[in-house]
Amino acid sequence: MRSKVVKLVDLALSRLPGAVAPGLVVLGFHGVWRDMAVAGQGVVDPYQPLTLADLDQLIDELKRMGLGFVTARDGARQGPVVWLTFDDGYANNLAVLPILRRHGVPATFFITSGNVLSGEAFWWDVLHREGTRRGQAPSALATWRETLKALPPEGIRQALIAAFGETIFRPVSDDDRPMTPQELSAFAADPLVEIGNHTQNHAILPVLDAAGQRAEIAAAQDGLAKLTGARPKVIAYPNGGATAQTAAIAASLGLQTGVTCLPHRNQLQDMDSAAARLSIGRFMGARHGVLAREMRLALAPAGVAQRRATTQRRALFNL
Ligand SMILES: [Zn+2]
Repeated sequence: MRSKVVKLVDLALSRLPGAVAPGLVVLGFHGVWRDMAVAGQGVVDPYQPLTLADLDQLIDELKRMGLGFVTARDGARQGPVVWLTFDDGYANNLAVLPILRRHGVPATFFITSGNVLSGEAFWWDVLHREGTRRGQAPSALATWRETLKALPPEGIRQALIAAFGETIFRPVSDDDRPMTPQELSAFAADPLVEIGNHTQNHAILPVLDAAGQRAEIAAAQDGLAKLTGARPKVIAYPNGGATAQTAAIAASLGLQTGVTCLPHRNQLQDMDSAAARLSIGRFMGARHGVLAREMRLALAPAGVAQRRATTQRRALFNL
């Protein structure tokens, strides 16, 4: 049986008027689960329910539409093309690789280097797990999550420790843990895998001053270079948060491409412009059925998505 997410994609695609427009469509995902049972286990924040089967079928669908697949490191492009991206560095992303191999398509994985090195769970999953365990309502937790995002990483960490205790950042299963350094090292060696910067501590960069932003991005560059043998050339700004200052700092640290959560299709020539390349639009998939709408916008003929982009330049996705 096809999953709900894929049915939504089918519906969205079936309503597309005519051929897919040229351009670069970037799709963003986070954890990828073995099945939907993970959503109800209270271990990870189920804001973006995506299973391995969903992803497999989505790639099938995109290939059937004739879309090519690229990452930031690919050179010559002819549109329309899709760039698959996965944020944070969840260990469950390791299971994406067999799917990429089966389809022969590449993807970029944006890694929060500090979590890989510490082995700690991501703070939003900790909030979901500990809050749910204490009977807190999803709406209250969502409000709390947004409040925490105004803090620097250490502030978020201390607030959660104060609320729930010292040991809460220990992962409880393979669903909420980051990749280990060894796993990341082996994963990064695959030619279909591109590794990108996602800061050291998942910092929402505009919360920090310039020195703080530089420290977060630079530490991830150094950490990922040690772990993978290569210094990333692409960053996904956590929470999509970036200003012109953020982009300039990223560029000064050797990052040539910056990916936001602003839901708009990119022009192919954006990848040839140093400035445009640091604020690449991206559609975050599968959150509460958002994928269908986002896919329609992403793949719609020129005009629709671009008009929408000028009126809705905001992150749809919160992490
Ligand atoms: Zn993230």
